[in-house]
Amino acid sequence: MSATTEQPVQAPPLEKKTTAGNYFVSNYPPFSFWKPEFVPDVVQSLERPPKPAPLGVYLHIPFCRKRCHFCYFKVYTDKDSSSIRAYIDAALQELSIYAKKPVIGGRPANFVYFGGGTPSYLSVDQLKHLTEGMKQLIPWTGVEEVTFECEPGTLTEHKLAAIRDMGVTRLSLGVENFDDHILEINGRAHHSKEIARAYAFARQLGFPQINVDLIAGMVEETDANWKECVRKVIEMSPDSVTIYQMEIPYNTTIYQQMKSAGKLVAPVADWEIKRSWVAYAFGELEKAGYTIGSAYTAVKDKSKTRFLYRDRLWAGADLLGLGVASFGHLQGTHYQNQHDFDPYVKAVQAGQLPIYRAMTPTADERFIREFVLQLKLGQVSCNYFNNKFGVDVKQRFAEPLQRLSDWGFAAVNGDTIQLNRDGLLQVDRLLHEFFLPQHRNARYA
Ligand code: SF4
Repeated sequence: MSATTEQPVQAPPLEKKTTAGNYFVSNYPPFSFWKPEFVPDVVQSLERPPKPAPLGVYLHIPFCRKRCHFCYFKVYTDKDSSSIRAYIDAALQELSIYAKKPVIGGRPANFVYFGGGTPSYLSVDQLKHLTEGMKQLIPWTGVEEVTFECEPGTLTEHKLAAIRDMGVTRLSLGVENFDDHILEINGRAHHSKEIARAYAFARQLGFPQINVDLIAGMVEETDANWKECVRKVIEMSPDSVTIYQMEIPYNTTIYQQMKSAGKLVAPVADWEIKRSWVAYAFGELEKAGYTIGSAYTAVKDKSKTRFLYRDRLWAGADLLGLGVASFGHLQGTHYQNQHDFDPYVKAVQAGQLPIYRAMTPTADERFIREFVLQLKLGQVSCNYFNNKFGVDVKQRFAEPLQRLSDWGFAAVNGDTIQLNRDGLLQVDRLLHEFFLPQHRNARYA
């Protein structure tokens, strides 16, 4: 693919200021197209025996010590231990409903993901009750990866040992920044000392993979501080580093503050600066021997470090999403659970599936979904899509690929569509070029 020389190359429509809204593309079609009236689709799909696809389990643990000002997840900071126990029991009950359905068909889970919220907010007893219950309901013998998200300030050596005993293979530490003032002003519950302590415990316990999350562009972030964060993360030498660029969706505290002050621009760095910070981090991580594996991740040892959850999901695996507001994908149908605590728990206690909205993508939409998600890896194989969907990617996407090429972000090399580093760092906004017209710039909420 090369830029056509007859026409002037259009300037890419770069965003500058960080305004409110979703940037990150986590699924397709956008969530605003998932509707309560499509819930019967997913209910019917559960009665069909499974097609051969790996099965993952995602459990949302919606509890946190404090709500971060940039947080857009469903979280609660006020639940006592009896509410948490009721929630765990509801999640187990929900899993038991699915386990009896033909769609599971005795399939063992291939990967398990505890996300949040803060899974590490649970006590050791709560964690044991939860995971022992899950293992009785769905076989874990074939589980190749168990991911567990943690907030550093919730971790003791005792709790980390219990998490290791659960069979967790990847511990994901939500560090976000190393500066106490920045952590504080962004509403994070932890401090820098807790990061070092938790990391040292986790290393001693021998977790196969420890991931550290950072956010480029927190409120009051500076060039100098970001460089220091990158230096510190390299010094820690985790197995992988995940870096997100700060976005300000509408359900964040920061957006509420912008709204009351009548401001359209968020008090965080411009997109160009955030991209330059990630570019700097990736460059430094590469110098330290890491490989850039996607728009967000750097891995220390490519041969040992896998992201099975991401790779299976982006290749169309089934995902049993459990818990409040969780997203799942079974037998070709997307669904999301009730997004409030009481309706979720009550539905499950009544023996019902707590599904709030659903959508069955067409074959074409499933193809686009996999294509855009896999493009976040920085390259995709055209043959993969030809074999799986019977689609000639170069022909089908001739126009958007030409646009990306004209803008200087992508090239086709034989079978591979390749984004360069510049394209990779802004992949989420570029993905809209491949969406069906009705889905372009739709709200991801
Ligand atoms: S720790 Fe994570 S889930 Fe909890 S409030 Fe902060 S950003 Fe949200």
